[in-house]
Amino acid sequence: MSTYDELIERAASEILNSKNTVALTGAGISVESGIATFRGAGGLWEKYDPEEYAHIAKLRSNPERAWILFKEMIETIRKGEPNPAHVALAKLEDMGLLSVIITQNVDNLHQDAGSKHVIEFHGNTLNLSCMECGKKYLASEISLDEIPPLCACNGVLRPDAVLFGEAIPFDELVESRKAAETCDLMLVIGTTALVQPAASMPLIAAENGAKIIEINPEESALTYIADIFIKGRSARVLSDILRKVEEKVG
Ligand code: NAD
Ligand code: ZN
Repeated sequence: MSTYDELIERAASEILNSKNTVALTGAGISVESGIATFRGAGGLWEKYDPEEYAHIAKLRSNPERAWILFKEMIETIRKGEPNPAHVALAKLEDMGLLSVIITQNVDNLHQDAGSKHVIEFHGNTLNLSCMECGKKYLASEISLDEIPPLCACNGVLRPDAVLFGEAIPFDELVESRKAAETCDLMLVIGTTALVQPAASMPLIAAENGAKIIEINPEESALTYIADIFIKGRSARVLSDILRKVEEKVG
């Protein structure tokens, strides 16, 4: 058994030795920004079953009800700020040590932290679009006092997140697969790895010879393929890895 410090040291060396590192992030990386995961305690998911509220069919048949959840999600997400884990990934990209983040999150926190190359696998809740004419809006410019919010054309607006019952946007899927196939190191952070097809990205990477470093306070469905599993919260672990990388670079 390696100690925590040894694992941090090994992770930092792998990042420095890699030619192409990619990160896959899930809801866990935003927990320390105050945004709960689906399954964690205290989330709005305890009140609203996401498959019931955030399903495209339910949005179409009963937009008032779906928007009860969307409104709370948007309000929760807008209060959240990037935490040290988001910041560490942005710094690694700045240093030329991380090529892209594939995120399952819909909270914009990677971009807020300064990350430039982010693939939003499940879209972004802060962008809205009209279900009739397709016109796009920012959630920040739309009042949610009355729901569902409406477009100038009177169509119902929706968040541009991938809802249950919807496919992953084609370009994002292709780009993510390419990133997974071509990386030689993948950081898998804060995901249960249960939601497909995002969960298959580390498998694709591993099949193509990439090493996998996983960071999570709990084991996930993919821990068995991890070369290095660092048990812990991502804010602390990624800050420690970044510090070690900076120390080694000098
Ligand atoms: P998940 O809820 O299934 O799993 C979250 C994972 O995070 C768990 O493995 C948990 O052990 C881990 N975790 C908890 N605290 C952590 C911490 N401090 N640091 C690191 N990891 C921590 O999330 P998922 O696998 O990403 O899949 C659920 C889907 O729900 C995703 O598609 C995502 O789009 C969506 N979602 C997004 C947000 C968001 O945008 N912030 C929030 C909730 C759900
Ligand atoms: Zn419209």
